[in-house]
Amino acid sequence: MRIGIGYDIHRLVEGRKLILGGVELKNSKGLLGHSDADVLIHGVMDALLGAAGLRDIGTYFPDTDDKFKNISSIILLKETLKLLEKNNFKIVNLDCVIVAEEPKINPFIDEMKKNLSDALKIKPEQIGIKATTNEGLGSIGEKKAIACQAVALLEAK
Ligand code: MG
Repeated sequence: MRIGIGYDIHRLVEGRKLILGGVELKNSKGLLGHSDADVLIHGVMDALLGAAGLRDIGTYFPDTDDKFKNISSIILLKETLKLLEKNNFKIVNLDCVIVAEEPKINPFIDEMKKNLSDALKIKPEQIGIKATTNEGLGSIGEKKAIACQAVALLEAK
């Protein structure tokens, strides 16, 4: 068994869609980034890559590459699964925490789990997604950013 950790944070800005776990949430601001800035999926990808002893997300999907501009992170997640498969790993489970002051994440968690489980070819029960606020503290509390922490457990095939 191999464990990995992932973390990501993106700024909230006007004029961008808010995409989390492949779900578009209604919000006055969205996350800024080269891709769709899906902070949940980026955290998960780094946890998976780390557990496999691979390099970080920026190594495989550099934000200087036009090919990844505004790309759906679901596609990047599927590519990450290919990297795991190539290295003979399979996913045991994932767990994640989204840290966001708004909007309310809870109503969308089932849909996020479905998107992630479809992309990673695992069951929704193998994925934990939780959400918490930052109690008004710091840049996340001031609604300037959304962050995600994730852990992943892999086993050798
Ligand atoms: Mg990111």
